[in-house]
Amino acid sequence: MTDITLFPQPARLERSGETFSLPPDARIIAHDRALGEILANYLRPATGFALPVDAANNGETNAIILEAATAGDSPEAYSLVAGGTTLRLRAADRRGFLHAFQTVRQLLPRQILSREVVTGVDWTMPGVAIDDEPAFGWRGMHLDVGRHFFPLDFIKKFIDLLAFYKLNTFHWHLTEDQGWRIEIKKYPLLTEIGGYRAETVIGHNSDEYDGQPYGGFYTQGEIREAVAYAAERGITIVPEIEMPGHAVAALAAYPHLGCRGEGYQVRTKWGIAEDIFCAGKDEVFDFLEDVLDETLGLFPSEYIHIGGDEAPKARWEQCLACQARIQAEGLADEHELQSWFIRRIENWLNAGGRRLVGWDEILEGGLAPNATVMSWRGSEGGIAAANAGHDVVMTPNTYCYLDYYQSLDRDSEPLAIPSDLPLQQVWDYVVIPPQIDKEKRHHILGGQGNIWTEYMPNSDHVEYMMFPRAIAIADVLWHHPQERDYAALVERLRAHLPSLDALGVNYRALDS
Ligand SMILES: [Zn+2]
Repeated sequence: MTDITLFPQPARLERSGETFSLPPDARIIAHDRALGEILANYLRPATGFALPVDAANNGETNAIILEAATAGDSPEAYSLVAGGTTLRLRAADRRGFLHAFQTVRQLLPRQILSREVVTGVDWTMPGVAIDDEPAFGWRGMHLDVGRHFFPLDFIKKFIDLLAFYKLNTFHWHLTEDQGWRIEIKKYPLLTEIGGYRAETVIGHNSDEYDGQPYGGFYTQGEIREAVAYAAERGITIVPEIEMPGHAVAALAAYPHLGCRGEGYQVRTKWGIAEDIFCAGKDEVFDFLEDVLDETLGLFPSEYIHIGGDEAPKARWEQCLACQARIQAEGLADEHELQSWFIRRIENWLNAGGRRLVGWDEILEGGLAPNATVMSWRGSEGGIAAANAGHDVVMTPNTYCYLDYYQSLDRDSEPLAIPSDLPLQQVWDYVVIPPQIDKEKRHHILGGQGNIWTEYMPNSDHVEYMMFPRAIAIADVLWHHPQERDYAALVERLRAHLPSLDALGVNYRALDS
C-alpha cells in the first residue's frame, strides 16, 4: 500500500488494512438525494459508472453511504470510513459532505479526475478512517479581474480548483483603475466605457504601450451563473467594489464623481492613481449605494468587500467639496475623511444586513465600528485590528501574494511584481501571529491567497502563479500545522502534483 497524500491534510486519519473498491454495480445510499447525485456526478465521467442514488438503505454491500451526523463545532466537519464493501461519509451539513467528496476524489486513483472514461483502472482506495474539520472558517482565494479579464469558463475552473482544496471563499476583485468588470444596469457606461482601456503598458511601467485596446466584463447573468456554480460547490463569492481609490475606470465613465470632474481615462499603466471618488459630493454616495444595491442583489455573501486601499489624498486636499465635508463633519483631516467615507458605506451595508470587509487602510483615521479588516501590508494591521476587537482576515503580502516571483532567480521566471515569495516562504505562513492577545485570537477568521494580475495576461499564467503555492495556503488554513517541515511538504507535493496534470492545470514544477 502506498502512502496516502491528501491536500489539505485531514485533521485525523487512521489507516486500516482493508481497502474499498468501487465496483460498477455500486450504489449510493443518501438521506439527501441531491447530495448523492453530486457525488455520482463526480465519479461518473472517469469510471463510466452510472451509480444509482437510493434514499432507502436496502443493504450496505458495495455501497457509498451518506449519513446525517449531529452538528458539531464546525459546519464543515465530516468523517469518512473506507474499507471492505462500504464507504461511509457522515456530516451534519451539506458543506461537510462536499468536503468529503473531495477527499474521495483524492483517495481514489487520480484517473478519477479525468473528464473522459478511463478503462483498465482498479477503482480502489486505501482503508482509512478520517475525522476532519478546518482550523479556520475563512479559507479564501482572491482574483483580480480588473488588470486582466478572465472569461466565465475560467472562473468556473478556478472555483472547481478552490473546492478541490477545500477553500470556501472566492474574493472576486471586480473593479479597478484599469477596468470595471461588473455590469450595473443603472450605470451602463461603467462597462461600456469603464470596461475597456485604450492599450496596456509593456513590462514594469516602461513608457512603451502595446497599442491594443483591451477589456471585457461580466453580465449580471454571468455573475449569477458564477455565484450559483460556486454555491453548489460550497463556496461563497465575496465581491469587491473598490472605493474610494482604484476607481479611475468608474470616473472615466462618470467624470462628475471625481473631485476634478473631468479628464479621466481608463488607466493603461499600473500603480496607484491620485484620482479617486470625491468624498464631498452627495451624488458619489448615491452612485455607490446604487452600485452596491445591484451588487447585493447578485451576491448573497454576508461580507461585501469595499477595497479602501491605496487612496492618495492629493485630490481631496485640493477639492472644495471635500474640504467642505471635513468642515461640516468636524473632521481633523483627509485621513479622517477616509474613515468617515468608510463608516458611511458601512452604515448603509449594515442596514441591508451585510458586513463590510476592507483592506487594512480602512484602519486609517479610525476604523468603522463593525468592519472586518483584511491585513495585507504584512500582519501589523491585522494584529492591531484583532487586539482592538475587530474581525480579521490575514492575507499578509509577505506570505500570501501569489503575484510575487516564485524563485529568487527572477530571470528564470515570467515577468512578475518585483518581490519574491518562494513556496518555502508561503509554507511558513502563520495565520495567527503571536502578538495577538490570547483572548482576541478568535477574531482571526482565517486567511487567503491574493492574485493580482497586472502581469498575468491569460488564465494559463494565473494557474502558473497560483500552483503549487495556493495548495500550501489551503493546507495551512485547513489544518494549521504547528510544525512546518518543508521537506515533507515537497515530498507530499511530488506525490500530489500529477493530480493537477489530470485536472489540466498549468502549474510551476517543483525545484529539483
Ligand atoms: Zn472631492
